[in-house]
Amino acid sequence: MSETPAGRERLQEQKDISELAQDVTDFLNKLDGIEYSVIVSEGFPLAYTGMDQERAETAAALAVDLATAAEIYIADLINEEINSVVVFVQSGRVISVSRSKGLLLLIEGQRKITEEATQIASSYLEGYRVYCPYCRHDLTLEIYKCPRCGRTIPFRSDVCPFCGRVVRFKKCPSCGRLITGTGRKVEYIRTGEAARIAALEGFIGGVILGSLGYIATMNPIVAIAAGVLGGSVIGMFIYRNAPREPIAKAPSTEEKKAESG
Ligand SMILES: [Zn+2]
Ligand SMILES: [Zn+2]
Repeated sequence: MSETPAGRERLQEQKDISELAQDVTDFLNKLDGIEYSVIVSEGFPLAYTGMDQERAETAAALAVDLATAAEIYIADLINEEINSVVVFVQSGRVISVSRSKGLLLLIEGQRKITEEATQIASSYLEGYRVYCPYCRHDLTLEIYKCPRCGRTIPFRSDVCPFCGRVVRFKKCPSCGRLITGTGRKVEYIRTGEAARIAALEGFIGGVILGSLGYIATMNPIVAIAAGVLGGSVIGMFIYRNAPREPIAKAPSTEEKKAESG
């Protein structure tokens, strides 16, 4: 395999469409907050979870009806192409129907997780993949347990759709290195706050050392030297040991191309 940049990539697909559909419904089945899902090809369920064959056929028919109605009425009304329809049902749940690669994907579940899962599933069906920048593990349909609420969410989510916890940086499930959900390396930087604290503490330390130096030697040159030198050393020490914050490494131009591609 040739060297490829990290991040989102479009792939020459080896699998056939029913295998891809199965991958997607397997993924949806693992997520919390998804009631059921069905992928429809030409009016019939190609893959489904959370229900039996009979209900999958009913859901498939519903997906076709909703998509058709959206195409005929809504697209005409707003004069734009419609790729997805969301129907709100009770207690924060939705039924989402979206079209990608000639297939219809119907999901019922909690609103936020259903929206996110729909996007991930569509991009997967369209051939986009996200890989770990270190070990090339395919992260596209990986899952992740939210450290705050414990629910199973997509690895690619930046924010937990259930409790709102920011989960931007996490360990690759294969190699264990810290990455972002979109397959970026993570680097650590010291914050501006750390620099300000270090400068202030260094200054205070310098004044104290300078004063002590003057008291001990009564020589202003020695006192100033002790203050400046001591203050610098203290400041540097505090800055070097300051906590660092993780940030996503900026993508290279090649990565940007792969993402927009
Ligand atoms: Zn959570
Ligand atoms: Zn990895």
